[in-house]
Amino acid sequence: MSKHPYAGTRIGLATIHSKERAIAPPFRRLLGAEVVAAPDVDTDTLGTFSGEVPRPDALVETCLLKAELAFATMDVDCAIASEGSYGPIDRLPFLPSGVEIMAFVDRRRGLRLIETLSTHRTNWRLMQFGAGEPGVPEALAAMGFPEYGVFVICGSDSSRPIKGLASVEEVISAIDQEARRSEDGKAILISDMRAHRNPARMKILRALAWKLAKRLSMLCPRCGSPGFGHVDSRRGLPCEHCGEPTHWIDFEIDGCAVCGHAVARPRADGRRTAPRSACRACRTCRI
Ligand SMILES: [Zn+2]
Ligand SMILES: [Zn+2]
Repeated sequence: MSKHPYAGTRIGLATIHSKERAIAPPFRRLLGAEVVAAPDVDTDTLGTFSGEVPRPDALVETCLLKAELAFATMDVDCAIASEGSYGPIDRLPFLPSGVEIMAFVDRRRGLRLIETLSTHRTNWRLMQFGAGEPGVPEALAAMGFPEYGVFVICGSDSSRPIKGLASVEEVISAIDQEARRSEDGKAILISDMRAHRNPARMKILRALAWKLAKRLSMLCPRCGSPGFGHVDSRRGLPCEHCGEPTHWIDFEIDGCAVCGHAVARPRADGRRTAPRSACRACRTCRI
C-alpha cells in the first residue's frame, strides 16, 4: 500500500480554544499527518457564540474563511477549522440542540471539504435572572458548572460578556452587577460553548474529526486526491409492484472534489426495488 499524500505533513488548525486535543488524534492515526494549532490567529473576529443560530450556509462560509486564516501564519498546504452553532431548535423551543461544521482546505490541490454533525446532546442553556433572584446555584448545577463554563451578559448590552467565572459566588455577583446596569433589570446566564470550556462539545468535535479524517483517507481512483466519497444520492428506486420510480434512494454517487470523477454505488442494503407502500402510483390506484 502506498503512503497517503498527507503522511508526514503538517496541517494548520485555526483555533484559540485547544481544539487540537480533539482533532489531532484521528489525523495522526488515519493519515499520519500532524495537526498543529496555527499561532496568532484571532478566530473570534469571525463570530462567537451568542445564543443565536445562524444559517447553515453562513456557518460553512465562516468556517472556510477561518481555515484559511491558518495560511497567514503557517507555511502549510492544508488547514482545518470548525464552527459550531447551539441554541433552541425551532420546532421545540425548549430543547437545545447544536450543529458542528468542520472545514478542510488543501490550497495546493484546490480541495475544500465540509463535514457536519448535529446533536441533541448538549448542555446549552440560556436563562435570565434579576439582581438577587434565587435559583442561580440550581441553574449552574444543571449547566454542569464549574466543569462546564458559563458567561454572564447584561440584558440590554451584549457587547461585554463576563467570562472566566470560577465559583458560584462569582457568577451570582456578576449576575447582580449586570442585572443592575441593564435597562430591563435582567442578566443573561448562558453556557460557554468554547471547546476548552465544554467537554460535551469537545467530544462532538472528536467524532466529527474522525469523520473528516476518514473521508480524507479515501483517495480518488482517477487522480489520487484525498477525500473521495459520497457527494449525492439519486432518488427513484422502482416500485416492487408497478416499477414506477419512488422517493426512495435508487443509488449513491461518490465523487472527487478535485477532478470531478464520479461513480454510482448501489444501495448499501442491496435493495433493488421499493415497497409498494412507498409508491405514489400504487397508492393512488388503491383509493
Ligand atoms: Zn480525482
Ligand atoms: Zn407502484
